[in-house]
Amino acid sequence: MPKHTVTLIPGDGIGPEITAVMCRVVEAVGVDIAWELAWAGTEMLEQTGSPLPTETIESIRRTKVAIKGPITTPVGSGFRSVNVELRKQLDLFVNLRPVLSLPGTGARYDNVDIVIVRENTEDLYAGVEFEQGTSAALGLIDYCERAGAGHIRADSGLSIKPISISGSKRIVEWGFEYALANKRSKLTAIHKANIQKFSDGLFLKVAREVAQDFEGRIEFEDRIVDAACMGLVMRPHEFDVMVLPNLYGDIVSDLCAGMVGGLGLAPGANIGTEYAVFEPVHGSAPKYAGKDKANPTAELLTAVLMLRHLGEKDAADRIMTAITSVLAEGRFVTYDIKRSLTGSTAGSVGTVAFAEALINRL
Ligand code: NAP
Repeated sequence: MPKHTVTLIPGDGIGPEITAVMCRVVEAVGVDIAWELAWAGTEMLEQTGSPLPTETIESIRRTKVAIKGPITTPVGSGFRSVNVELRKQLDLFVNLRPVLSLPGTGARYDNVDIVIVRENTEDLYAGVEFEQGTSAALGLIDYCERAGAGHIRADSGLSIKPISISGSKRIVEWGFEYALANKRSKLTAIHKANIQKFSDGLFLKVAREVAQDFEGRIEFEDRIVDAACMGLVMRPHEFDVMVLPNLYGDIVSDLCAGMVGGLGLAPGANIGTEYAVFEPVHGSAPKYAGKDKANPTAELLTAVLMLRHLGEKDAADRIMTAITSVLAEGRFVTYDIKRSLTGSTAGSVGTVAFAEALINRL
């Protein structure tokens, strides 16, 4: 019997290519994993009538751990994000996104080591939306006016931003516990509480209360999201662990990815009390699909997070060392890294050649 069974969701776009090489690299370090293949996305919608078939959710409920490639979400219309739905159905309330500058990647900043802890179930991502012109939207507009909440133009579409005490408490506590367990020194709560007093204001109030329980062990500060973005670009070394509501977490983690070489290098994990689904920060980059071009490093660093979660620390460390060494050497790097280093993609290698260089190193 294999030591671990993990649900593998290849996704679409560049997903199948980067997850295929990820499996090869994990197998090369000798971890005994049985992959349980599961599918989601547009093709599933056509075949089964749902972009997230119940078999996929059932597989994760059985294995408790999944790793996935990105899945395309139609913009503006069509089905809701499969990624958001997975997080919701499995109550994966933490989105952990470490941001680390690695030598040889052309990162704009050296020695950045920030951990983003993004709330994953609430905020404008909750999916509570009312389409412009519908009776529900018009009724809500009317209700807001009658409740004295202000005037909303009648031709508006509406998205609701729920932020709760319980949702804020568990994510901020998780951030502090993570900081303690990983010997971090500071936690910064990010918000826009000066403007959104009842949603971000509540998040900040809860964060300050939770911070009191960790006083003397982890330093606490809060920053307004726009000022935090400027601070990140000007003095990134002032940040350590950041805890953010969902939407700011989404935006700030792409900003941070840009500081350390781009989305091809940014890993992530969705974690709940029972299940964990590992996935890179980036999307399906459709223009590179099937071209053997995408950088699989983000997916590989995501596998490193997964191996640590599975208790396979040695295997995780070995992959991390191999990635660091191949990137630092600079002979086998994908187009995005070559472009950051030289301004041109000439001399870069493809997804598979980069992974093979890693496997040789292992
Ligand atoms: P994206 O797929 O992340 O791609 C944006 C750009 O980031 C790419 O054009 C490329 O930039 C760079 N990039 C992303 N992944 C890379 C990789 N592995 N290696 C090298 N460069 C990489 O974002 P998008 O185009 O906005 O989104 C495409 C689809 O993905 C959308 O449907 C979106 O909803 C979905 N999405 C899914 C997830 C998920 O499954 N968790 C997450 C985010 C977005 P250059 O061309 O400049 O090199």
